[in-house]
Amino acid sequence: MAPCLARSYVIPAFTEMRGVYANPVMSTSPAPTPMMAQYHALKAESPDCLLFYRMGDFFELFFDDARAASATLDIALTSRGEHDGEKVPMCGVPVHAADAYLARLIKAGHRVAIAEQVESPAQAKALRGSKALVARAIVRVVTAGTLTEDVLLDAKTANWIVAMVAVSGAVGVAAADISTGTMELCQVSQAELEAEIARYAPSELVAPPENDAHSGRTTISLAEKLFIPGASIVEQPLPSFDSAKGEKRLCALHEVATLDGFGAFTRPELAAAAGLLAYLDHAGKGKLPFLAPPVRRTTAEYMGIDAATRESLELTQSAGGSRKGSLLETIDRTVTGAGARLLAADISGPLIAKTKIDARLDLVAYWANDGIAREAMREALRRVPDIARSLARLSAGRGSPRDLGQLRDGLSRAWDLRELLSRSADAPPLLADLLPALGGHGALIDKLTRAIVAEPPSDASGGGYIAAGYDAGLDDLRDAGGTGRRAIAALEARYKSDTGITALKIRHNGVLGYHVEVSARAADALMVADSGFTHRQTLAGVVRFNAPELHDVAVRVTQAETHATAAEAAHFEELIALTLASARAISATADVLARFDVASGNAQGAVEYDWCRPVIVEEPCVEIVSGRHPVVEAAVARGGGRFVANDCALDVSDRLWLVTGPNMGGKSTFLRQNALIAVMAQAGCFVPAKSARLGIVDRLFSRVGASDNLARGRSTFMVEMVETAAILSQATDRSFVILDEVGRGTSTYDGLAIAWAVVEAIHEVNRCRCLFATHYHELTRLAEKLPALSLHHVRAREYKGDLVLLHELAKGPADRSYGIAVARLAGMSSAVLQRAKSVLSMLEAGRAATGGLAAGLDDLPLFSILIEQEPVDPLRTALEAIQPDSLSPREALEALYRLKKLTE
Ligand code: ATP
Repeated sequence: MAPCLARSYVIPAFTEMRGVYANPVMSTSPAPTPMMAQYHALKAESPDCLLFYRMGDFFELFFDDARAASATLDIALTSRGEHDGEKVPMCGVPVHAADAYLARLIKAGHRVAIAEQVESPAQAKALRGSKALVARAIVRVVTAGTLTEDVLLDAKTANWIVAMVAVSGAVGVAAADISTGTMELCQVSQAELEAEIARYAPSELVAPPENDAHSGRTTISLAEKLFIPGASIVEQPLPSFDSAKGEKRLCALHEVATLDGFGAFTRPELAAAAGLLAYLDHAGKGKLPFLAPPVRRTTAEYMGIDAATRESLELTQSAGGSRKGSLLETIDRTVTGAGARLLAADISGPLIAKTKIDARLDLVAYWANDGIAREAMREALRRVPDIARSLARLSAGRGSPRDLGQLRDGLSRAWDLRELLSRSADAPPLLADLLPALGGHGALIDKLTRAIVAEPPSDASGGGYIAAGYDAGLDDLRDAGGTGRRAIAALEARYKSDTGITALKIRHNGVLGYHVEVSARAADALMVADSGFTHRQTLAGVVRFNAPELHDVAVRVTQAETHATAAEAAHFEELIALTLASARAISATADVLARFDVASGNAQGAVEYDWCRPVIVEEPCVEIVSGRHPVVEAAVARGGGRFVANDCALDVSDRLWLVTGPNMGGKSTFLRQNALIAVMAQAGCFVPAKSARLGIVDRLFSRVGASDNLARGRSTFMVEMVETAAILSQATDRSFVILDEVGRGTSTYDGLAIAWAVVEAIHEVNRCRCLFATHYHELTRLAEKLPALSLHHVRAREYKGDLVLLHELAKGPADRSYGIAVARLAGMSSAVLQRAKSVLSMLEAGRAATGGLAAGLDDLPLFSILIEQEPVDPLRTALEAIQPDSLSPREALEALYRLKKLTE
C-alpha cells in the first residue's frame, strides 16, 4: 500500500495568489516603478517575443506587445499609468482561457514568453516587506515548433521544428516533433536541402545567420532562402551549432557514453542537433522536453520530392493550404491521431527500398484479406488515446492526471491487442517484428490502474484524481473533509431556520474562504450586534458574513482539503517519475500502434474503394491498368458522376508520353494520378487501380499549371522556368516527371521553342519516365524523331454542336484543341465566341501560307548540342553531290579542281 505522507506535505501556495491583482496599477511618475523595472528586465530577456506578464488572474501585455496582441486577438487595447510621459498601452487575457489566445497568437506567427509569478504575495511580503513586488520569471517561451498542449495542436498533424546549419559544404539537419518526442538527424547537400525540409513541412525553422564571404556582413539565413510555406524562422547564434557540444548533450540526454548505439552521426548532423537543443533549452527555460534517441536518416531512403512538386500534387495540403482536398485527407482511413500523423509522414516521405515497401504492403494485405481481423483491430484502435502526446506533455512538465489516465488506458489496450494478434497464424513478418513492443508495461499499468480514478481531470489543482483505496491516509483526509462539508450543509439549514432567511447560502471563495451570503435586503437582520454574524463584505446586491461555528468547521474542512490536495500532488509527481522511467518503451508502443492503424486503415480504404496491391520492381517502368485519381474521383462521385479510369504504360523503350487533347479533357488529372499512385505505392499503400507494376522512383517532379510566387519575387514564367530547370538538372533515369503545359507563360514562339527543347532534353539526356501534357500541337512532330516518345490524347467528340469530353486516353495525337468549344461550355458570350472563331480562321490561314511554326522547328537539328552526330566530311559530301552522267568534260574538270581544293 502506498504510504500516507499527508502531514509532511508542503501546501501549494498558488491559491493565495489568485485574485490579488484585479487591476494592475502603474505609477504616473516619470521614474520607473519597481513593477515597470521588473517588466523591462523580463522583456529584455526575450525581446523577440510577446511578453505575457502574469498579474493575478490575467496575463497582461504592454507597449507594442499590447498593440500587436490586441490587433491579432481583436481584444480591447486600454492604457494604464504613464511611462516616459506617455500612456502605457495595455491589454490582457484571463489565465484560465490563455491557451485559446496563445493558439491564435502562435498561428499568426508570434512567439510568446510566459512570465509567471514565482512566489506568492505572502512570501514576497514576508521576505521583503509589506510593499514588496512579487518575483516573476519567464518560465517558458511558447513557439510554433515547441507546443505540446492538445488545444494548441492538430491531433492529425505532426509538429516539426527543424534546425539546420551549413558545415564545410554539407548541411546538417536536426528535426524534432516535441509533441511526441521524435528526433531525426540527417546530412544533405545544398541542392537536396529544400526537398528534405519540405518533407517535414516544419512549423518552425532554426538556423544561424550567415556571414557573407565578400562583404563580411551578416546576411539572411540559409532558412530564409528556402521555400517552406508556413514556417516561422528563428535565428540562433552560430556558436551554439557546435558538433562537439551536440554530441555531448545527446550523450547526456540519453545517459550513454557514446552515440554509436544510435547511429554513426556526421559532424554537420551533430552541429544541427546542438543548435536545436540549445533553442529548445531556451524555449523551455532549461527544461528539455522528452526526446527519444535520434534516428539517422539519409536522403537515399526517401523518394526525393521538392517543395514545388509537393505543392502541385497537393500531397498533404491542398492549394488553399489546408488538409482538406489533399491526397492525404482523401485516402486517410486511420482512426487515431497518431495513425493520421504517421500516414502523413509516409506520404511525405515515400520509401526507396523495395524490401521495406513490400513489408508495409504485406501488413496492409494481411488486414485487407481478413475483414474480421481488420474490424477488430480498428475497433480496438478507436479506443486508444494519444499516448505519444500524453507522454510528451508529462515529460515537458505540462502533463495532467488525464494524461496519466490516457497512458494507462492506451498501454492496457496495446497489451490486449498484443494478445489478440499473437494468436493469428499467418501474420506477416513486420507484424511479428513489431508485436513485442506492444507489451512489457504490466507493472506500470497495474500501478496506474490502482492509483488513478477511471476518468481523471485535466487540471490537477482541484485534486480528486487519486483513486480511493490507493492511500489510506488520503482516504482519511477525504473523509474528514466530507464530514466537514456535511456539517457545513447542516449549518446552512440551521441558519436558514434560525434567521428565517430562506435565500441564505454558505459559499466559498479564495479570498474569504467559507462565509454566509444573503441578499442586501435581508442583510439588516444579520447586522445587529447580537445576531452572531460578523460583517465581512458588501457587494452589489449581496452582503457576506462570518459566524464562529462556521469558522471552526471551515478551518477543519480547509485543512483536510489542503492536506488531501498536497497528498495527491505528491502521488502525482511520483507516478509521473515512474512513467517517465519507461518513456522510451512507451514511445515505441505508440509507434507500433500508429503503424498498425495506418496499415489497417489503408486496408479499409482498399476494400471500400477497390484499391489494389502495387507490385514494386527495380526496372524503370510504370504499368498501371485502370488507374484513377483518388481526389478527383471522390469529387466526381460527390457530383453524381463516374470517374473514367485510364491506363499508363511507360518503360525504357516508351518512356515519354506526349499527351494532347481539349481543355478540361483530363490531361492534368491523368498526369497527376500516375504520380500520386507512385507516391502511394512507395509509401506502402494499396493504390487506386486495377493493377499497378511500378519501378522504384528515386525522385518525383511535377510542374503543373502556371503559378506565380510574388512573395518570393518571381513571376509566373520565372517560377515555371526555375522549376523546369531544376527538373532538367536533377532528374535521373530512375525518376518520374510530369510536366503540364510547360512554356505557356510566355509568347507562343518562345513557349513552343522552350517546350520543344525540354522534351528533347528529357528524352535524350535525363532519360526518365515522363508524362508531358501540352496544347502545342506542333510538338507531336517530335514523335517522328524521338524513338522512346509516343503520342496520346484525351478523347472528345462534338455532338450536335456541343463538345462531349470523354476523359478517355487513346493513342495518337488529338485532332484539334476545342479551346473555343470549352469557352462556350464556360458560358462566354456568343459575340466574343464569334469573334474568336473568325480570328482563329485568319490565324490558321496565315500559318498554312507560311508553312507554320512547326515547319521552322522541324528543320532545327534535333537537340543539337546534346545529340552526338557523325562528324561531317566535306570531301565526301561534295563527292556525293556529283552526278558524273550529267557533267560535260569541262564541268568534270572544274569539279575535280574543287575537290582538290577541299583537301588543302
Ligand atoms: P486544361 O487543358 O484546361 O488544363 P485538362 O485537360 O488538364 O484541362 P483536367 O484539369 O485534368 O483537364 O480535368 C478537368 C476536369 O475534368 C476535372 O476537374 C474533372 O472534373 C474532370 N475529369 C478529368 N479527368 C476525368 C476522368 N478521368 N473521369 C472523369 N472526370 C474527369
